[in-house]
Formats: sequence, structure tokens, C-alpha cells
Amino acid sequence: MALDIIANHWWARFLEKVNLMAPAIIQKIEADGVRRGSLRWFFERVAQTDNSRCFYCNADLSNTTAVRHIDHVLPWSFLLADPAWDLVLACGRCNLGKSDRLPNRRFINLLETINRQRVARMPEFMRGSPPLPTGGISQLYDAARAVEWPNAWEPALL
Ligand SMILES: [Zn+2]
Repeated sequence: MALDIIANHWWARFLEKVNLMAPAIIQKIEADGVRRGSLRWFFERVAQTDNSRCFYCNADLSNTTAVRHIDHVLPWSFLLADPAWDLVLACGRCNLGKSDRLPNRRFINLLETINRQRVARMPEFMRGSPPLPTGGISQLYDAARAVEWPNAWEPALL
């Protein structure tokens, strides 16, 4: 299952980090093998499910001139994938400010709530995505924290 692979991947990476004799095979595979894909499909789905606001700071993104970013709540560089349940609309300021960091844990709880609403409104919302682990997104969040991923990012106050 895809998420077991992710968990094993980060466990292997953690071992490489703590064992200086390890050959860093995982890091080399990462650098070569993974490409980021287009997320246009995500805009089409969230248009039917989410309100047009920034997930983090609640800025209104419904204006046609507003630039909508897609943010990976658990960083892409951690998951190396684009599962629908990890993606949110964000303003440019939050998306660029957050970068590769994990947000404060309260955003994980919010993301789990939003994902339940998405599936209720559009049953095919998660189509094509790896399934969530039984422990949900918070289990992956804890795994990222366990390898000391930078965390507790908060949006800047307006
Ligand atoms: Zn924002």
C-alpha cells in the first residue's frame, strides 16, 4: 500500500540520518526519481467542494484577480506525492511563507474535517489518491515530526 511505502521510506531515511555509516541510498533515489506533476485536476475538484478561501489565513480568493495557490499541507518533499487529501487552496503569501514546513497541528485537525466535507459533497473527490493510513493524516504528521521535519508554522497575522 502506498502509505506503507511512504512510512518505510521515511523510516529508512531516519536510519540513514542516525547512522553515519549508511550510504544515503534513499537520498540519492529521491534526487533522481521523483517529478512533480500538474495539479490542474485539483482546482476542478475544489471548485465544487471547498469555499474559495485560503486554508490558513482565510483570505478571500473568490475574486477573479486573486491568485490561488495549491499547498501540500504535509510537504510534497515529505510525501513525494500529490494525494487529494493533502491539498488545500492557499493564498500566495501563506503558500510561499510556509514552504516545506509542517503547519501547526490544529491545521491537521482542520484538514481532516475538510476532507470529510469534500467526500460528502463529491464522493469521487479522492479518486486516484493513495488511501489514508488507518491513523489518518495525523499519523503521517507524527512520522514527519519524528524525523524532526520543521514544524509548527503559522500564518503571519494580517
Ligand atoms: Zn493565506
